[in-house]
Amino acid sequence: MSGETQEPKRPLAPSANLDPSDWGEFRALAHQMLDELIGHIETIREGPVWRPPAAETRQRFARALPHEQRNLGDVLDDVRSHILPFATGNLHPLFMGWVHGAGTPVGMVAEMIAAGLNLNCGGRDHVGIEVEQQIVRWMSEALGYPAGASGLFLTGSSMANFLAVTIAKTEALGPQVRQAGLAQQQQLTAYTSSEAHGCIAQAMQLSGIGSANLRLVAVDASGRMRPEVLSAMIEADRAAGHLPFLIVGTAGTVNTGAIDPLESLAAIAARENLWFHVDGAIGALAVLSCELRGLFAGIERSASVALDFHKWGHVPYDAGFLLVRDSAAHRRTFAQPAAYLQRADRGLAAGETWPCDLGPDLSRGFRALKTWMTIETLGSERIGQAIAETCHVAAYLAECVERHPRLELKAPVALNIVCFNIRGEDSAFIRTLVLDIQEAGIAAPSWTAIKGDLVIRCAIVNHRTRREDIDAFIGHIDRYLDDKRL
Ligand SMILES: *Cc1c(COP(=O)(O)O)cnc(C)c1O
Repeated sequence: MSGETQEPKRPLAPSANLDPSDWGEFRALAHQMLDELIGHIETIREGPVWRPPAAETRQRFARALPHEQRNLGDVLDDVRSHILPFATGNLHPLFMGWVHGAGTPVGMVAEMIAAGLNLNCGGRDHVGIEVEQQIVRWMSEALGYPAGASGLFLTGSSMANFLAVTIAKTEALGPQVRQAGLAQQQQLTAYTSSEAHGCIAQAMQLSGIGSANLRLVAVDASGRMRPEVLSAMIEADRAAGHLPFLIVGTAGTVNTGAIDPLESLAAIAARENLWFHVDGAIGALAVLSCELRGLFAGIERSASVALDFHKWGHVPYDAGFLLVRDSAAHRRTFAQPAAYLQRADRGLAAGETWPCDLGPDLSRGFRALKTWMTIETLGSERIGQAIAETCHVAAYLAECVERHPRLELKAPVALNIVCFNIRGEDSAFIRTLVLDIQEAGIAAPSWTAIKGDLVIRCAIVNHRTRREDIDAFIGHIDRYLDDKRL
């Protein structure tokens, strides 16, 4: 709004732009908030894991659109009373219910820098693209991909898996499918295990192929896809006149952390000439650990990998990533010749790689910075060790469960996910126990179904979780079983 058109009852705008009128005051408030957040993370284990937003807080966010300006200091007070106490809980060492990363203080600083610079990483010639390409090369190196692979940041592995299905579809049918659509085409069929994440079926829906054409391959007792069943299904589909095009292996299933036999799947994909994608949302970053790397043998033979830096990589949300071996195939699926995206050989519109050619996003934030700063400051070895340590803590929890007379391990522990239940208790009891523990703020386990049984599920993802935390957790369960209270 310009100075001349101000209505009389409005406070006089100190300046027409949106910067603070008093930079000194702004600086002091911003510094104080940064200090408070550092303190919040430093003392995270002293507070409850989680509590539901207070009624007053829910009401606070049901107000009408504010027309007038307010002091930043007052808004930050709202943040203190209504936001900080009611977060997800994933920073806390006893948050174990879902595969959520815990973040790091370095990641927080990186987010501040990224927001301050406000880069648009859709394309053009600036350093944001260079940093993102650095991560592409680092991930190629870590996963054993050749030089020249392509990749990009996305919100999460749900999106990365969707892009991979779309690339595989375009490669199977040819780039004209982008204009013509799927009508008249031979029926495409894809294969994944019955333990695969639900976003794979959704990717089939979104790509227009339909989730009915996703074959769910049976798993063995450890939750790993059975390659001989996969081969038989492909053969049956070919015999029925369908066009098999894609195998999705999982490196770390959401229920139990199982890793599909990636070598065998790669061999079948090569023999059958199918795209081999790996959903590495949970597990792919474990290749940074020399102790765990061997479990993922075969991932280097895949055509694409989806992974999440915001899970085991502890980069703040969101930081999903897709790596694609064949950069030309990647571009063929997404590049668009729009006039407003025209390139120049120099100036700001120069640059070889524009991420808007590699996915549906045009405007994109600088997710690469928080990932680069996290890896650059911690180093891949220390991140790998922290990943391995969560597996050790999970193994310790599994031991505690096996030693415990009333607890029973319900699935092998492949990586960092432990599923157990309580002998002689039914599903209703287990649900109540999990909810009571969550609401008491002492821990956050979840539940899942294993072979039809409801079980308590603990995913140890947090780099802050220690054996003492597991002891405390088991202690709470003991008290609950003895006295029905926490
Ligand atoms: C978390 C997860 C996803 C989905 O990733 P988002 O980052 O949440 O979108 C996909 N597959 C597996 C195995 C996961 O654990």
